[in-house]
Amino acid sequence: MELLFDYKNGKKPIRSLQGVGERVVLKLATLGLHSIEDLLYFYPRKYEDFTNPRSISEVVLGIRQIIKARVISINNGISARKRMKLTNARVADESGQLDLIWFNQPFLVRLLVPGTTWLFAGMAERDYKGKTTMVSPVIEREGRLVPIYNETAGLTSKMLRNLTAQIRPLIKGLKDWLPEETRRDNKLTGISDAFELIHFPNSIEQISAAKKRLAFDELFFLLLQIELSKRELEQTKSPICKVDDDAVQKFKDSLPFTLTNSQELAINEILADIALRKSMNRLLEGDVGSGKTIVAAAAALAAANNGYQTVWMAPTEILATQHYYSFERYLKPHGLKCCLLTGSTSKAMRAQINEFNLIVGTQAVIQESVRFKNLGLLIVDEQHRFGVKQRNLLVSQKDGLIPHFLAMTATPIPRTLALTIYGDLDISLLKSVPTGRKLIISKLVDAGSRQKAYDFIKKEIKSGRQAFVVCPLIEESGPIQLGQTRLDFQEKKAALAEYEKLQNQIFSDLRIGLLHGKLKPKEKEETMSLFREGKIDILVCTAVIEVGIDIPNATVMMIESAERFGLAQLHQFRGRVGRAEHQSYCFVFTDSSNDSVFERLHAFTRTNSGFELAELDLQIRGPGQLAGLKQSGFGSLKLASLSDIDLIRQAKAAALKASEIGIDNFPLLKAQLERQAEITHLA
Ligand code: ADP
Ligand code: MG
Repeated sequence: MELLFDYKNGKKPIRSLQGVGERVVLKLATLGLHSIEDLLYFYPRKYEDFTNPRSISEVVLGIRQIIKARVISINNGISARKRMKLTNARVADESGQLDLIWFNQPFLVRLLVPGTTWLFAGMAERDYKGKTTMVSPVIEREGRLVPIYNETAGLTSKMLRNLTAQIRPLIKGLKDWLPEETRRDNKLTGISDAFELIHFPNSIEQISAAKKRLAFDELFFLLLQIELSKRELEQTKSPICKVDDDAVQKFKDSLPFTLTNSQELAINEILADIALRKSMNRLLEGDVGSGKTIVAAAAALAAANNGYQTVWMAPTEILATQHYYSFERYLKPHGLKCCLLTGSTSKAMRAQINEFNLIVGTQAVIQESVRFKNLGLLIVDEQHRFGVKQRNLLVSQKDGLIPHFLAMTATPIPRTLALTIYGDLDISLLKSVPTGRKLIISKLVDAGSRQKAYDFIKKEIKSGRQAFVVCPLIEESGPIQLGQTRLDFQEKKAALAEYEKLQNQIFSDLRIGLLHGKLKPKEKEETMSLFREGKIDILVCTAVIEVGIDIPNATVMMIESAERFGLAQLHQFRGRVGRAEHQSYCFVFTDSSNDSVFERLHAFTRTNSGFELAELDLQIRGPGQLAGLKQSGFGSLKLASLSDIDLIRQAKAAALKASEIGIDNFPLLKAQLERQAEITHLA
């Protein structure tokens, strides 16, 4: 077992297996397989059932089927036209005879010796002479369930099976990391059996037993991490930020709007938390446009009044910049010194960072560059998994205090799910969006109504408003794995094409801007400034484009090939408009004529509630698609499903028990947990 879980020497590379040379290594990498352990967790996509062959007389044309037959004759030849090597065989069972053919596999004559019996799986076709022939059948010796893996060009399931066969002895030697009691209580297969049965099953029942155990493990380790982090967080201490009621009232009075009830409530909850020694760990959940920023700003004000700094981490530089401008507007009048920290911020400025009350920047920039003397509050936008260790890194330790923590998310996660996923955080919910806003009018635009929609948009812009156009990735054919660079490139291509189309053909008299992931931060910010100042009428952007952008004058959101997006994601895009008093519109374009696409997009146009859409997404596409779930660690689930409430409940109870007893009492479990934590962190 040393080989599999050798902590000291890192993971054992997949290269150490037989038949894996440089070329295969590259191909395995495109499937995300680098180590032997990766291979272990690379579960079959499905199984081909060789246990139930049909007789030759039952073979029909055009579908894949399996026969069990004896080889009568076999020989190699060359095709007349294409100069391919052909292997022809004739096989027989009690019911009849059948011809088989393979291309470029001359070695088969040595394997399929006349007189031997095999299973053949393949499609039967009529050859040019009208004779029924099974083409390139897969060969198996025994009637078993044969795992089919995700394949990539030049790397077949057969090759992958060959590799998993090599790690079989390792699987046999695996010691179970789950406490025996947990296994017994939840009727779980042992870990070694589970891996064995998922890769080498003999029956469907075995596969389900294996899947249950492995799914349980996925949930259990995530929930255990959350449970432990909760325990750790309960112990930590933070600076006391006493609340100055007058200052808070003054701040509220200075706003150009009245806070909603849920905003008031959330502010109260947060201010009560940070007034304590015990660290705040709170998630502020609210639909797009519900006004989370101002709530968090109130907390920053309270921290500053107590002499503590606030760090505000935004997911992107564009958002950081935007927030910085809002703070200049809302907080500067109350005496707060704010600064923006980006990749281009000078060293000199960084050296003076501790003179500011509020520091806004991206996570990457802040974590790399600064230690804070006086950090009291950490606010993280759309990036909720932020542990004690990461928080410790930000502060120069003297009194053992870490900053209070406030995370924000617009991911409308159904409540039951939220409690599971964010079990270590208290939740404040902004239930409603500010009143007085007009509901966004959403319309589904099919190919026939395109021109009408364009005319309407033109009219809106002529009356002084602005528009966004979101376009998705151009779809690649074939199962290629998109790396980030490649993804950026594809997005750029799609956005560029749309930009040119709109500028040259559709809206030639309007000013069009372009924003995509490949632009430099500076270029992005320039484009955003122009848009903010009204010098661009229509902004064409990619899906990666920052979710929190706030341009109140924009009233039209146009989404191309909308069927490619999840409902929650569409809702995020829609949230970019309708942020001021103007009536706003969301046009979802689709050229698809698929019924279920229509139904889904219609559902989107019928409701403005992010929560409703999240529930729908959950039903239609499963939890993996809920935007924002990925970073929570739950996006890495392979077998487990977030809709499997029973299994979640069992895993949660087991995690609770293990953490109560203390995982130091379970050395194997502890080791595996560390390993899992590493995996989810990297995901
Ligand atoms: P999000 O929750 O998506 O981060 P923001 O905090 O960006 O939303 O707020 C969206 C817009 O609503 C901003 O322009 C903000 O100034 C405005 N806003 C916030 N609270 C209120 C309110 N109570 N009444 C009216 N407008 C508000
Ligand atoms: Mg926001």
